Amino acid sequence: MKLHEYQSKQIFARYGIPIPRGRVAATAQEAYQIAEELGGRVVIKSQVLVGGRGKAGGIRLANNPKEAEELATQILGMEIKGLPVRKVLVDEAARIEKEIYLGITNDRAARKPVMMASAAGGVDIEEVARETPEKIVRVHIDPLLGLKDYQARDIALGIDLPREHWKAFVQIARGLWEAYVCCDANLAEINPLVITADGRLLAVDGKMVLDDNALYRHPDLAEMRDLDVEAQSEIEARKYGLSFIKLDGNIGCMVNGAGLAMTTMDIIKLFGGEPANFLDIGGGASADKVAAALRIILSDPNVKAVLFNVFGGITRGDEVARGILAALEEIKTNVPMVIRLVGTNAEEGRQILANANMITASTLAEAAQKAVAVAKN
Ligand code: GDP
Ligand code: MN
Repeated sequence: MKLHEYQSKQIFARYGIPIPRGRVAATAQEAYQIAEELGGRVVIKSQVLVGGRGKAGGIRLANNPKEAEELATQILGMEIKGLPVRKVLVDEAARIEKEIYLGITNDRAARKPVMMASAAGGVDIEEVARETPEKIVRVHIDPLLGLKDYQARDIALGIDLPREHWKAFVQIARGLWEAYVCCDANLAEINPLVITADGRLLAVDGKMVLDDNALYRHPDLAEMRDLDVEAQSEIEARKYGLSFIKLDGNIGCMVNGAGLAMTTMDIIKLFGGEPANFLDIGGGASADKVAAALRIILSDPNVKAVLFNVFGGITRGDEVARGILAALEEIKTNVPMVIRLVGTNAEEGRQILANANMITASTLAEAAQKAVAVAKN
């Protein structure tokens, strides 16, 4: 579960990480009021659960409450990467001398959390990671020992942080580690952690991703889930017990089994296409579950083709075929469907679908190629 910036920063503050003064607003009038309370310059920040808000125009500086109100009006009317902005954070504007990156995530290969930092923080950190990875310092943390102060100092040295900031930096690194552990997070990130003109360290942006499987231990955090801005399709999928993740491509994927779903996505990419989603309909998927899944896939206007990849083990091919037909009765769509169906009752399934104007394929490679081709037209 992703947390909003304002939620992440509230958590950071509990662990002693300095954050700017500020509050969240749902209307431009509230933004005006908060800006007035704060006095001076403020920054108006769209609260949406995607990165790159700055580059999308969702982070703007205002010189006075009137400007804050105007910018809040603009930003509250925006969609950023398809997500409507429902709230803005109004923060006291920081005077920034330098932007640092500091984050913790799990390094699966090392089987340990890793703390990462870079002197080249800010909105271009992905580029830095890709093009000059040596500018990112990494330190693994023993989960039993926790982050040691000497490790935090190693990081400060590694990013050439001036000496006078080391004490504050160690405090922040320790706070970030504690927040990461105590909240059962998969990611805790400050980008940018800034050095201000008056020589302080300040967490200007914050991002936390929590482990869904640990949320039962944190009812207070679970309550922070924002149904408003989660992709509607993901909410719908959760209702039907489907594992669904929306992606940016144009080929919808309907697959039974998580591993097979990953393979399907890989093969679509291999043939030059882009998957529109990850979807595992699970074993023994019944007709109504298949129908729900298809409805969810087709609710995405980007979808130009749907690839069904079904391996009939527990799931029976004829049952899936009937689910597809039932769904198409209800949905009526011109989106082309490519189907690869093998395993239990595959022959019966294919028979059912043969009459329904669907493109069939006998191998996954063939199915992926056909889906990529029809999606292009
Ligand atoms: P993101 O684009 O979603 O990561 O949003 P951020 O909160 O990180 O803001 C993007 C960029 O806007 C930062 O890297 C800063 O350069 C700038 N920015 C954000 N807050 C402030 C602020 O208080 N003062 C100034 N001067 N710039 C800011
Ligand atoms: Mn940021």
